[in-house]
Amino acid sequence: MKGRIHSIETCGAVDGPGLRYIVFTQGCPLRCKYCHNPDTWKLQDGNEADTEELITDILKYKSFMKASNGGVTVSGGEPFLQADFVRDLFIKCKENGLHTTIDTSGYVDIENADPVLDYTDLVLLDIKSYNQNIYKNLTGVPLDRTLALAKHLEKRGIPIWIRYVLVPNLTDNEEDIEALATFLETLTNVERIDILPFHKMGEYKWEQLGYEYELTDTIEPNIDATNKAADIFRKHHLPII
Ligand code: SF4
Repeated sequence: MKGRIHSIETCGAVDGPGLRYIVFTQGCPLRCKYCHNPDTWKLQDGNEADTEELITDILKYKSFMKASNGGVTVSGGEPFLQADFVRDLFIKCKENGLHTTIDTSGYVDIENADPVLDYTDLVLLDIKSYNQNIYKNLTGVPLDRTLALAKHLEKRGIPIWIRYVLVPNLTDNEEDIEALATFLETLTNVERIDILPFHKMGEYKWEQLGYEYELTDTIEPNIDATNKAADIFRKHHLPII
């Protein structure tokens, strides 16, 4: 089956457990103000890829993945935008005994997600804010689907790793983090929480693409701010990394 991808990383170490073969899919319905891959946004850009060719390439790295308890991660862009393509790739991964992870914003209808989730071992769920207004302002889309997916994944018994990008004056509000932690504490499938300090490494891409980058004057959070956020999650007995 064919799909459109942005790029491939053959030896990733942060997008799921162990060493991972990472496929970055093309296309995203969100427009996050801090996106470091705005070149993934338009589905028609990127390159055509075939799941048969991808699995052939993936299997070259199988011994590294197996030795490290790693596997295959599909990230984006937003992978669920090409749900059939990701499902087909994951079916091939499972046929070959490989662990599968999807990295998503959660902006997807449950009925579109389910056929992919049938072959998904782990979900990296990016919850960009728990404040509805800030979420909409930051991403351009509403938050509800992401929270609905989190609850649905719990029901299905699929573990999640939460990713939270800490942006000064945008997502570092203690009340919002507290509210997110309170929500996450009610779920039984949260295996880990990663706080990712905001950085501007993708800013040059916005300039190259002719997009206006609104966070030029936003500074990267200091260690105290990151620790403060981590303490809130810890207070709610959440596994913070
Ligand atoms: S969901 Fe990811 S790829 Fe899409 S705009 Fe946000 S940061 Fe960029």
